[in-house]
Amino acid sequence: RNNVFLGSRYESTAAASDSSEPPVQKYEYQAEVSRLMDLIVNSLYSNKEVFLRELISNASDALDKLRFLGVTEPHLLKDAVDLDIRIQTDKDNGIITIIDSGIGMTRQELIDCLGTIAQSGTAKFLKAMKESKDSGSDNNLIGQFGVGFYSAFLVADKVVVSTKSPKSDKQYVWEGEVNASSYTVREETDPEKLIPRGTRLTLYLKRDEKGFAHPERIQKLVKNYSQFVSFPIYTWQEKG
Ligand code: ADP
Ligand code: MG
Repeated sequence: RNNVFLGSRYESTAAASDSSEPPVQKYEYQAEVSRLMDLIVNSLYSNKEVFLRELISNASDALDKLRFLGVTEPHLLKDAVDLDIRIQTDKDNGIITIIDSGIGMTRQELIDCLGTIAQSGTAKFLKAMKESKDSGSDNNLIGQFGVGFYSAFLVADKVVVSTKSPKSDKQYVWEGEVNASSYTVREETDPEKLIPRGTRLTLYLKRDEKGFAHPERIQKLVKNYSQFVSFPIYTWQEKG
């Protein structure tokens, strides 16, 4: 898997003839991403709640980008949806959904942003992690560097990102599972999941982490982080 380059290999897993569904395409992660995910998943890092801070900060960044770009490209704001973040918890099934009405991602951006590591901070993290490996201690490197999107795998077995960019007329779904070397991308076809703009991120929590889907727990964490976010954050729970 070290020799596989970004996006150079894909295969259609959809039945070719007897289905009108758009194809599901499979991509290998860049080698650095696989390394980062291994480190995250196998670390003894105990402060797993940082995942929420990272995902809220991504949602907030996406809203900032939209607001900023909307000044010079007002058509990006044509879908008059409020700029906010919504967090839904389903404690019975251990699912957390985070929805923002920000800039979203095109199909290519999904692959570029969630299949490769662009930021230098993460490269530094990987280096520091390697250097501290011999110490065998439960260090605080994950918290110190902030490992971004992939911190979702601290608590989730499966992450689904359904996203709609104002630059694209279609909504796309990225799906990744813990301990996998590849992810898939497909078009969103579920009418209930369609959004006018932005990103809908669903975390299917690991068996031992389902407690994070309790509304009180999420609300408490959100309260801590929301003071650094300039958009409203709403939380609600699945009825049932
Ligand atoms: P960073 O936020 O430091 O760039 P992350 O790993 O947290 O790194 O996120 C990687 C990239 O994925 C972001 O830079 C952004 O382009 C994209 N991304 C992640 N979450 C969202 C989101 N909710 N909306 C739009 N783009 C996103
Ligand atoms: Mg981030």
